[in-house]
Amino acid sequence: MGYCFTKDAMEAIWSEWEKCYDIYTPKCYHGKGRFSDTDCIRYGQVHSIDEVVFDKKAEYSPKEFLLQNAETLFYFTENHIQESEKRQKEALIFLRSCDLHAIKRLDAIYLQQGAADNYYKRLREKAKFVLMGCQKAFDTCFCTDMGTNQSQDYDMSIDYVDGLYFMDCKMAQWDELLNGAAKSIQTVIPTYVTETITHITLPKHIPQSMLQSDFWRQYDGRCIACGRCNFVCPTCSCFTMQDMYYTDNGKAGERRRVWASCMVDGYADVAGGGTYRKKNGERMRYKVLHKIWDFQKRTGYPMCVGCGRCDDICPEYISFSHCINELEKACKEAEVNE
Ligand code: SF4
Ligand code: SF4
Repeated sequence: MGYCFTKDAMEAIWSEWEKCYDIYTPKCYHGKGRFSDTDCIRYGQVHSIDEVVFDKKAEYSPKEFLLQNAETLFYFTENHIQESEKRQKEALIFLRSCDLHAIKRLDAIYLQQGAADNYYKRLREKAKFVLMGCQKAFDTCFCTDMGTNQSQDYDMSIDYVDGLYFMDCKMAQWDELLNGAAKSIQTVIPTYVTETITHITLPKHIPQSMLQSDFWRQYDGRCIACGRCNFVCPTCSCFTMQDMYYTDNGKAGERRRVWASCMVDGYADVAGGGTYRKKNGERMRYKVLHKIWDFQKRTGYPMCVGCGRCDDICPEYISFSHCINELEKACKEAEVNE
């Protein structure tokens, strides 16, 4: 059912929600941006509708809720293992359409490919999603080309237009509260963009010769293997394990999983001192093809959702969307020559 709310009504609804949920949305961290006098927009728990940032893209994605950058899995002593505590309270997560599509990718990776991951599952079961409408595309978004600009898989939606909040709610438990608080009851369709500034064309086929192509060599020098593109990506989901010891003898501590990046040194190392992808260009090839080709072969849809965050964050101004477009041209040429 759809509703329109004034700010006062929204604040009253928020107070009721907070009794049931922790609410996570894009919020502004003042002075925490790339430079000391710049801000950073990223996910965090908020306590008022005023804290929600509607008009800017979050630099980091909502995956920070489901895949924390350092998550304790269990605690151990010499003789016992104890699983870390489950989250008790449900979470309401505000996110845009591309990020909701990214959750579908994470679900495929963590719940549907082989045995379900218990730690992901127990957080996922506590998550409810509020779709934030997009009135305009940001410079680097290419969601329309990835088919992720629109989504129906939300629990609620919210649009903020001219001081009013427009919501669609699929959760019957809130009908009474929302009906009572609404300025008007009307059909609400979450806004979505139909045009973007950035466009990409996915290659229809990746010829085998492209795997060893010199195309990737440009990234050997340009990429500095910082891994930032992975950390901001809503669909990058790799992790590594860390054991933290509380005692010198190593018999008590905790095991954590922490984010890992296929772009940084050490990720592809194997026993005996070998490494599968030493050059940064080889890592770029692995990442790009995984995002637009390999994952799709298994699931039927690409992993990348076109959020453009990797383009925004790269300190070397390496553009993923530009890379895809150049790759598409190179693939066509390679096919002609094969
Ligand atoms: S690869 Fe880049 S554009 Fe695609 S989902 Fe990840 S961060 Fe977004
Ligand atoms: S953010 Fe840019 S420089 Fe850093 S690893 Fe990714 S592509 Fe390379």
